[in-house]
Amino acid sequence: EMFGQLTSGLENAWNKLKGEEVLTKENIVEPMKDIRRALLEADVSLPVVRRFVQSVSEEAVGVGLIRGVKPDQQLVKIVRDELVKLMGGEVSELVFGKSSPTVILLAGLQGVGKTTVCAKLANYLKKQQGKSCMLVAGDVYRPAAIEQLVILGEQVGVPVYAEGTDVKPSEIARKGLQEAKRQNVDVLIVDTAGRLQIDKGMMDELKDVKKVLNPTEVLLVVDAMTGQEAAALVTTFNVEIGITGAILTKLDGDSRGGAALSVKEVSGKPIKLVGRGERMDDLEPFYPDRMAGRILGMGDVLSFVEKAQEVMRQEDAEDLQKKIMSAKFDFNDFLKQTRAVARMGSMTRVLGMIPGMGKVTPAQIREAEKSLTIMEAMIEVMSPEEREKPELLAESAVRRKRIAQESGKTEQQVSQLVAQLFQMRVRMKNLMGAMEGGSIPALSN
Ligand code: GDP
Repeated sequence: EMFGQLTSGLENAWNKLKGEEVLTKENIVEPMKDIRRALLEADVSLPVVRRFVQSVSEEAVGVGLIRGVKPDQQLVKIVRDELVKLMGGEVSELVFGKSSPTVILLAGLQGVGKTTVCAKLANYLKKQQGKSCMLVAGDVYRPAAIEQLVILGEQVGVPVYAEGTDVKPSEIARKGLQEAKRQNVDVLIVDTAGRLQIDKGMMDELKDVKKVLNPTEVLLVVDAMTGQEAAALVTTFNVEIGITGAILTKLDGDSRGGAALSVKEVSGKPIKLVGRGERMDDLEPFYPDRMAGRILGMGDVLSFVEKAQEVMRQEDAEDLQKKIMSAKFDFNDFLKQTRAVARMGSMTRVLGMIPGMGKVTPAQIREAEKSLTIMEAMIEVMSPEEREKPELLAESAVRRKRIAQESGKTEQQVSQLVAQLFQMRVRMKNLMGAMEGGSIPALSN
C-alpha cells in the first residue's frame, strides 16, 4: 500500500503518548525519534527531516490544552499541518498563458513515464477543463517513443505532431508550435528526449527547445520510486534550464513517500500533478492536504481536532487562562465558555467521537442547551459593568432583582447564576494549579 510503511512508522509516535495529559518537552522526545526514523526510512532527505522535526517539536511544546483533545491526537494534527506546509501548502495549479496556445514543455529521464504523462495531461485538460490540446513528439532518439505517443494520442483523441527522427528537436518544436497556432489549440504539450542520466547534450537540447517555445510551464517528470533522488533531480533541472514545477509519477507503486515530501522543500519548486497508475485517467492535481491525510491515514482524528480547535481557539484559551489566573473571569468569559461547551455538545451529537464525553446522552445535551438559553437571557440584560464585575451583583440584591425582572427569570435563578460564576472561578483557579484558591462570597441581601 502507498506510504504504508511511513504510516505505520508514525503510528509508533502516537502510541507513545497514550495516557499522557499534555504534550511536554520531555514526553515528546521519544515520539519525535519515531517520527524522525519514519521519515528517514521513507527516504526523505536528512536536512528536510531535521527541519521538520524541529518545527513539529516547537509547535508541540507550545500548543497548550484543547478541551477534549488528547496529546497524541494533537500531535497527529501538528504533524499533519507541518506535512502540508512541507509539501507546499496549497495546491499548485497549472498556469495558462494569456494568448493561445499555452505551451507546456515536459522533461525527464528515460522511463519515468514522460510519454505517458503527455497523453494523460492532454486527456486531463480536455476532460476536466475543456481545453483543446495538441502533442508534439520531440523524443527523436527513440522511434518507439514517437510511435507510442501517436498511439496514446489516438487513444485520448488528441492530435500528435511528429516529424520522425531526422529533424532537430528545436526544429520540431518550432513547427509544432506553428501548427498549433494554425489549428488554434488551447494547449500545446511538448515531449522531449529522455536519457538514462543527466548529460550536457540533454540539457543543451532542452535549452534550445525552451528558447524556441517560450513555454508557460516547464515541468520535470520524476518517478516517485526514486525517493529523495527525485528532489535532487528537480533541483538540478531547475538550476540548468529553469522549470516551473514537477510531475510525480508512479505514486501507485510501492513508493515510500520521500519524493512527495522532499521535492518542494529541496528544490523550491512545487509538485503540480501526480500519476497514480497506467491508465489515461490516472493523473490528478497534487493536493498537499489530501496527501498528508493519506500518509497519516487518520481522517477522523484530524477532523475532530480541527473542530475542537474551532471551538476553543488558541488565543481564546490563552486569554481565558490569563483571566482565570488573575481572578478576572467575568460574565463575558462565562458566556463564551458555556457557549463553547454547548457547541461541543452539538458536535458530540454530530460526530459522536469526543473522547471522555461518550456517555453524554442527548437528553443531557438538550438540558445543557436549555440552561444556556436561560443564562444567556440573564447575562444579556446585565450592564457592561455588571458583566465585568460580578461582585456588583453579589453585593446588590437590587441589581439581581432588576436582572430577574428584565430577563423574565426568577431572582433565585439570578442568584444561582452569580454563585455559579464564583464557583467556576474557584474551580478553574484550582484546575490551573494556582497556589491560592479564591473564595465564594456570600450573597448579601
Ligand atoms: P518515458 O520513457 O519517460 O517516456 O516513460 P513511459 O511513458 O514510456 O513510461 C514507462 C513505463 O512506466 C510504462 O510502462 C508506463 O506504463 C509506466 N508508467 C507511467 N506512469 C505510471 C504511473 O503513474 N504508474 C504506474 N504504475 N506506471 C506508470
